[in-house]
Amino acid sequence: MTCMTQSITTSSADETRAFGRRLGARLDPGAVVGLRGDLGAGKTCLVQGIAAGLDIPPAHVTSPTFTLVAEHYTGRLPFFHLDLYRLAGADVEELGYVDYLFGRGVTVIEWFDHLAPDVVDAYLSIAFVCEAGDRRQLTLTPHGEPYERLLAGLFAESVADDSGR
Ligand code: ADP
Ligand code: MG
Repeated sequence: MTCMTQSITTSSADETRAFGRRLGARLDPGAVVGLRGDLGAGKTCLVQGIAAGLDIPPAHVTSPTFTLVAEHYTGRLPFFHLDLYRLAGADVEELGYVDYLFGRGVTVIEWFDHLAPDVVDAYLSIAFVCEAGDRRQLTLTPHGEPYERLLAGLFAESVADDSGR
C-alpha cells in the first residue's frame, strides 16, 4: 500500500541538491531510497545533496559510471550509492548488492527499477520527470510506515519554511 505521495518541483541543480540535503539529514540507519528517471533527470544531483545531509562532501559523489557502487564512510552513517543503469535485465540479487540494503547504512539506488520489485519492501521511492527548462518534478512515495513519517516531517518543515518567508 502506498499513501501520502508528495511532489516538489525544483528549478535548478542547486535546488535539487538543497532538497536532497534536507532529506539526507532526516535519514535513519538502514534507510533505502530508490530513484527512477531518465538520464540527466537529476538523480545524481539529488544524491549529492543527500550526501551533504549525511555530512559527506557532495563533491565526493559522482556518477558511478565504471563502479556500480560507491561506499562512503566519513559521514554520520555509512553511505552506499548504487547505480544500476548498466544492469538492466541482470540478476541483481546474485551480484551481492542486496547486502547493502540490510545493514545500518543509508543506501541510495539510481535506476531502482532495474532491481527486482520484491528485493526491498520498505523504502522511499523518488521519481524524476523533466519539465520545461531546468525544472524537474520529483514525486516521493513512501513504502512503509517509517517513510510515511519521514515524508510527513520533511514536508511539514517545507510548509514551515515557506510561511517564514
Ligand atoms: P542523472 O543522475 O539522473 O542521470 P545528473 O544528476 O547526473 O542526472 O544530471 C542532471 C543534469 O541536469 C546536470 O547537468 C544538472 O546540472 C542539470 N539540471 C538542470 N536542472 C536541474 C534540476 N532542477 N535538478 C537537477 N539537475 C538539473
Ligand atoms: Mg546518475
